[in-house]
Amino acid sequence: MSQPSTQGPKSADLFTQAKTLIPGGVNSPVRAFRSVGGNPFFVDRAKGSRVWDVDGRELLDYVGTWGPAILGHAPDVVVDAVRTAAANGVSFGIPNPYEVEIAELIRDWVPSVEKVRMVNSGTEATMSAIRLARGYTGRSKVVKFDGCYHGHVDSLLVAAGSGALTQGTPDSAGVPAGFAAETIVVPFNDREALERVFAEQGEDIAALILEPIPANAGLILPDEGFHAFLRELTTKNGTVLIFDEVMTGFRVAKGGVQELVGITPDLTAMGKVIGGGLPVGAFGGRAEIMDCLAPLGPVYQAGTLSGNPLAMAAGLAQLREMERIDGYAHLEKLGARLEAGLRGILADIGRPLTLHRVGSMFCLFFNEKPVRNLQDSMASDGAVFNTFFHSTLADGVYFAPSAYETGFISCAHSEADIDHTLEVVEAGLRKALL
Ligand code: PLP
Repeated sequence: MSQPSTQGPKSADLFTQAKTLIPGGVNSPVRAFRSVGGNPFFVDRAKGSRVWDVDGRELLDYVGTWGPAILGHAPDVVVDAVRTAAANGVSFGIPNPYEVEIAELIRDWVPSVEKVRMVNSGTEATMSAIRLARGYTGRSKVVKFDGCYHGHVDSLLVAAGSGALTQGTPDSAGVPAGFAAETIVVPFNDREALERVFAEQGEDIAALILEPIPANAGLILPDEGFHAFLRELTTKNGTVLIFDEVMTGFRVAKGGVQELVGITPDLTAMGKVIGGGLPVGAFGGRAEIMDCLAPLGPVYQAGTLSGNPLAMAAGLAQLREMERIDGYAHLEKLGARLEAGLRGILADIGRPLTLHRVGSMFCLFFNEKPVRNLQDSMASDGAVFNTFFHSTLADGVYFAPSAYETGFISCAHSEADIDHTLEVVEAGLRKALL
């Protein structure tokens, strides 16, 4: 079927120009709409649960800048904090008080963190955590799960999800075979495969890294007890357990998945919500491991803009506001309302698609079978999703332009927004499925 236009005339002009200047016209691949067809729209402004494109179209947004916008877009507290910080200087490259404040907040909120270092993206956080684990253990191999995306780090861009999955190229060109060879990939939720890998190579494995609730190949739920099993296995083998909570940290609970499941990793990678929409990541964990970082230890890691006052002020303002308004309880209520409505619609239309939700994160798989790993997720019907995507977008509701992404509700979404979304979704599902 031909796709309805996703762009107004101003977006179309900008995209034409962008393609002459920026590869593919975008600065991150999924934004290009390649997997759903059509072309991206350009945004003029965003506030609360809404974005407005340059052609004046208003959209109810469930992408939330891919996770960071947990309070909604441009929350007053964050905008004011950035303004105040900027008036005193946007970057110093000299320690500033905000860095101490945010480190203390992270230590207080995230169970595994005794010490933390700020970086500028989630990719930097996972990349640095892996280097630290290698430096600390003196080993080189890393175990990851297929479908888990940890940013565009060379040795982690193997069987990754997110844009790599959408593009159908989980292994990027430009990653030397020797780097990828240091990475062992195992299906998510597969205890036997892990036991085999550790029995054979346990003494060489520096780190086991995972998204504790994978959210880049749809939203995949861990089997009961899976995290405890991983904790035990890694402790037994002297392997550093790294939770990549770039997506889930400060999103599913103040302390991320580790708070929900009561399992403490050795290191945690953070990003997205922690930066209030500015470019921020962090990694932290056991002091004994973190103290291997330069200048105390031999593992080098650095950043010109790391800990800059704008990003720190934005993150602090967002996290404190979440606490002040009891944002996590509010998001659970909104999430439950969306889930109940969706389950009702699926029952009405007689198509029991698999639906996963954790708090404000959700994913509807275009697949009626259980989804426990990447292979199950890939069984979703991409063509049906695309029809659904274009229908809901035409009706003013913006979900991520890929069948393998997770949706995000923000505190700025109202119950009326959720109810309206359900109407639009029902129309989209009827069009796509019946
Ligand atoms: N880890 C996870 C779980 C992510 O979802 C992402 C990005 O989506 C990253 C790491 C990389 O973060 P960034 O895009 O900020 O580099």
